[in-house]
Amino acid sequence: QVVTRFAPSPTGFLHIGGARTALFNWLYARRHGGRMMLRIEDTDRERSTQAAIDAIIDGMKWLGLDWDGDVVYQFARAPRHREVAEALLAKGKAYRCYATAQELEEMRELARAEKRPPRYDGRWRDRDPSEAPAGAPFVIRLKAPLEGETVIEDAVQGRVVFPNKDIDDFVLLRSDGNPTYMLAVVVDDHDMGVTQIIRGDDHLTNAARQKHIYEAMGWETPAFAHIPLIHGPDGAKLSKRHGALGVDAYRAMGYLPAALRNYLVRLGWSQGDKEFFSLPEMIDSFDLAQVHRSPARFDYAKLENMNGHYLRDTPDDALFTILVDTLPYLEGGAAMLAALDDHKRGQLRAALPGLKARAKTLNELVDGASFLFAQRPLPLDDKAQKLLSPEAKARLGALGPKLAALSDWTAAATEAVVRDLSVELGVKLGDLAQPLRAALTGRSTSPGIFDVLEILGREESLGRIADQSA
Ligand code: GLU
Repeated sequence: QVVTRFAPSPTGFLHIGGARTALFNWLYARRHGGRMMLRIEDTDRERSTQAAIDAIIDGMKWLGLDWDGDVVYQFARAPRHREVAEALLAKGKAYRCYATAQELEEMRELARAEKRPPRYDGRWRDRDPSEAPAGAPFVIRLKAPLEGETVIEDAVQGRVVFPNKDIDDFVLLRSDGNPTYMLAVVVDDHDMGVTQIIRGDDHLTNAARQKHIYEAMGWETPAFAHIPLIHGPDGAKLSKRHGALGVDAYRAMGYLPAALRNYLVRLGWSQGDKEFFSLPEMIDSFDLAQVHRSPARFDYAKLENMNGHYLRDTPDDALFTILVDTLPYLEGGAAMLAALDDHKRGQLRAALPGLKARAKTLNELVDGASFLFAQRPLPLDDKAQKLLSPEAKARLGALGPKLAALSDWTAAATEAVVRDLSVELGVKLGDLAQPLRAALTGRSTSPGIFDVLEILGREESLGRIADQSA
């Protein structure tokens, strides 16, 4: 059975690259009827925080990426990691190294002088621990092969060959008894039954080292898939400005989880030129063979367009629920939520089809809905101000009483009145409808103006028109 895992270090938010890694693991597991596990790699006690753990879990839930079984916390498993280090020692696959900090520094200096990466020189590999001063601190190092090469058959990168002379006897257990990342990851992946390791390609060289731990323990090495990182639109490392943010920031920018998911799956993976994938389609078609080898480029404009598409495509009732759930995170959303009594709720729901047609994000949608919550006299933006010329105000003055005479306050009935009056006054429809829009919404753009009249209702509409009439 396929088992994948997402193994974030809780030292910050769930960033966009991590979210994509989680998504790929999730899709792979779902595609193959397998399991995806979540492991929090909290061994760095200084930098791991509960807030980061919460943000990761919250972000995954928001994106709809559920995991199987309980969350595994790596730090809690340190005794098991020590046990494996001891087992390797007992098998003669690892050894105690008593090299001092100064000796290690000398090795690093030598490497600098020779312009090569630093490398432990194996000086305790064949020495007897009894040669060390009594009680001296030691680390446990793996006896890595000295010759030959290590081959990783990677589902994305293909066959990657590492000369073993570049792989030194790396540390498994520190002198304080704490496991290194290298050891903890292997022990956990083995114990959790992980069959496919899908992670960022910054871990590719680690895979070569990790493989030696599996082999030393006589464990089966899982399959690897190292996915290229996400870069900015300019090809450089992803910066904050270009999208290196937590998924919570994307929620606050008003992106829908379904849209972000779709955007992320297309970031570094493709199937022909198909852009839009429903969740079942994604699960059906996701395949590691089609993950690109070169870095993906993050592009806000594309994400925004995709989000606009999802906004328009989401049925109104479902979108309304998402909107209300998301309000606390959106700019101006908390105030809107506080004002959302049953009456306002009904108005917002009625305005939704018109609002979503004009928005690419939930933030734009909330902004577009602000006229529903505005108090008289309405604040007017510059364009609205310009539309409300003295002539325009006079036209509104003529319109108010005619609308007031309506017995039936519907979009269609108000439209007939506005059209008739524009003919009567000999002006274009827009010369009356645009000032009307400015009076009703304080803006020059809004959902259809007759819908706005109907949604605002007779009393509020007539009041807003009167406020701007001359
Ligand atoms: N905790 C590591 C990270 O956040 C991932 C380790 C792994 O996937 O093997 O980069």
